[in-house]
Amino acid sequence: MWRIVRIAVLLTILAFVALGALVDRWRTTDWDNTLWIGVFPVNADGRDTTGEYLARLDAAQFRDVEAFFAAQAHAHGVALDRPVHVELYPALDEAPPRLAPDAGLPSRVWWSLRARYFSWRVAGDRLAHVRLYVLYHDPDHTQAVPHSLGLQKGLFGIVHAYAEEPYEATNSVVVVHELMHTLGATDKYDPATLLPSFPGGYAEPEAEPRYPQRLAEVMAGRVALSPGQARMAESLDEVVVGPATAAEIGWVAQ
Ligand SMILES: [Zn+2]
Repeated sequence: MWRIVRIAVLLTILAFVALGALVDRWRTTDWDNTLWIGVFPVNADGRDTTGEYLARLDAAQFRDVEAFFAAQAHAHGVALDRPVHVELYPALDEAPPRLAPDAGLPSRVWWSLRARYFSWRVAGDRLAHVRLYVLYHDPDHTQAVPHSLGLQKGLFGIVHAYAEEPYEATNSVVVVHELMHTLGATDKYDPATLLPSFPGGYAEPEAEPRYPQRLAEVMAGRVALSPGQARMAESLDEVVVGPATAAEIGWVAQ
C-alpha cells in the first residue's frame, strides 16, 4: 500500500516537473510578449579589476543584444516590436555550481539539480523569464575561460565573459548564443574542429563563391573562411539567425 502511495507521489512530482518544462517552453517561444532576460553578473576571479568593471557595467552594454533580437526576429516575420528586454541585476556574491567538462551522466544530472536550486535561491524573486549568470574574468589574468552553456530545462545560462570594454562586442555574441540555447536552439558547428556545419551553420549557404563567408550563423558563432578555416564573429553586426535556428526557437513554423 505505502509503496503504491510513494510511487504515486513520485509520479505526480515528475508529471509537474515535465508540465512545468512544457509551459516554460510555450511561454518562452510563443513570441506574443516581450521576453525578459535577467542578467546577473558575477565576479568570477575575485579580482579588484573585475569588481571595478562590474561597478561600471550598465544596461546600455546589452542594448546590442536587444537590437539583434529585434532585427533578426523581424527578418523572420515575427511581428513583436521588442522580442527581448535585457534587465541588468546587481552583481551576485557567489557563482553558480561548476560543471566539470568531463562529467558523466550522473554528475551532470546532479549538477543540473544544484544549478537549478542555485538559480531559484539567488534570483527566484527577480522578474526574468530567462536568467543568465554572466561570469566575468579579468582578461589580463585569464587566457581561456571555461565553456559557456545555456539550458532550456531550467531556463538559465552560464556565460563566461571578459571584464574589459574592448571585449564587450564578443561577450554579446556569447550571451546571444547561450540565450538561444535556453530557447531551444542547437549548436551548428562540429565540436571536434569548431568549424561551422554546412549548411545550417553558415549565414549564407547559397553564396557563390561559398568562401569566404561574410557573416556567422549564431549557433555556429564563427565565420567560415574556407572549408577548413573559420574565425570568431567579432560583434553581433556579423551574426545572423539562420532558418534552422529560427525554426527551433519558434520564429517560423517547423
Ligand atoms: Zn552552444
